[in-house]
Amino acid sequence: MLAAVAWEPNKPLVIEDVEVAPPQANEVRIKIVATGMCHTDLYILFESMKKESFPMILGHEAAGIIESVGPGVTEFQPGDKVIPLFISQCRECRFCKSPKTNQCEKGWIETQHVLKDSRFTCKGKKIEQFAGTSTFSQYTVVNQMAVAKIDPSAPLDKVCLIGCGICTGYGAAVNTAKVEPGSTCAVFGLGAVGLAAVMGCKAAGAKKIFAVDINPEKFEKAKVFGATDFVNPKDYDKPISQVLAEMTNGGVDYSLECVGNVEVMRSALESCVKGWGISVVVGWTELHDVATRPVQLIAGRTWKGSMFGGFKGKDGVPEMVKAYLGKKLLVDEFITHNMTLDQVNDAIELMKHGKCIRTVLNPFPQ
Ligand code: NAD
Ligand code: ZN
Repeated sequence: MLAAVAWEPNKPLVIEDVEVAPPQANEVRIKIVATGMCHTDLYILFESMKKESFPMILGHEAAGIIESVGPGVTEFQPGDKVIPLFISQCRECRFCKSPKTNQCEKGWIETQHVLKDSRFTCKGKKIEQFAGTSTFSQYTVVNQMAVAKIDPSAPLDKVCLIGCGICTGYGAAVNTAKVEPGSTCAVFGLGAVGLAAVMGCKAAGAKKIFAVDINPEKFEKAKVFGATDFVNPKDYDKPISQVLAEMTNGGVDYSLECVGNVEVMRSALESCVKGWGISVVVGWTELHDVATRPVQLIAGRTWKGSMFGGFKGKDGVPEMVKAYLGKKLLVDEFITHNMTLDQVNDAIELMKHGKCIRTVLNPFPQ
């Protein structure tokens, strides 16, 4: 098969002939029909750059069709439409059994961001599987506990985005922050994750939603998803937390950081009103510590984090697909570009320069 291989950090991906072994026990092989690109893919390639993880195949936001199943697989059959999950749901560990979290302990996080035992080989080298998914490829092999079966009528070139960005932002508002009707919210960062957070705040009944971004080109899109007010931190010469506090009589009820910058995480927390404000960290970074003065928390603010919007994938993803099919969730509006997998480096450039929301890549161009 063809796949976009990241041979080393900070270098363009290379389309290569990759061998993908058949699924082993409890695994399925998925034909990837469409894959989005998320900022986390760029983070791994350009920011975290853990050399030991390369070569690898990036991509974790996709939809596809089961091609074959390994021994012991009963839940899936060839032809099923599915979304691979970067957080598994084994249904057996103590985290899966708790309704409080989606942090299944069988996930790729425990395996240091890559599945060491991947089914990919290229030029005699083992290729690591990023996020346990690796969707910048024509096929991938995933354990059945990290796959969600979805409605067979779902258009895969759209619902692929439910595999990361949409669930992440929407769930951060609805599941993690638990935004209340009539509340005031602020979303920092208006990529797909932030826009989905705006959509989640709106669905939860927020009355005012501040959209915050240093790229004002994002504001028009934010309006489509329900933002009511637009703030560019570059337009002010004082801290944005102070600006928001002045606009909201003391701060917002909920804030969501969807950038991946520890300074913005601090601003988002400090933009919350004392007493009950809740701030959710969604943006991803492991490069720096995050800080605030303790009094910010002592005064009654809550600082939380959210992975994949708190959704348990096997349960949540099919529901989100259904919501889209029932016209209760926007998906198409996130897609600004469609490309083929061999244009993956162009898609990376677009995201790097803030010129897209989501690019959907087709691994099987005619
Ligand atoms: P994106 O690059 O499309 O969007 C990021 C946005 O942040 C851009 O619009 C950019 O202009 C804006 N921004 C940059 N600096 C800013 C600042 N100082 N203040 C305000 N806005 C600023 O990215 P995305 O795909 O939407 O992902 C957003 C973040 O979410 C990334 O950090 C990504 O790694 C993370 N993420 C987390 C999870 C999770 O499970 N927690 C899942 C997916 C993605
Ligand atoms: Zn992602």
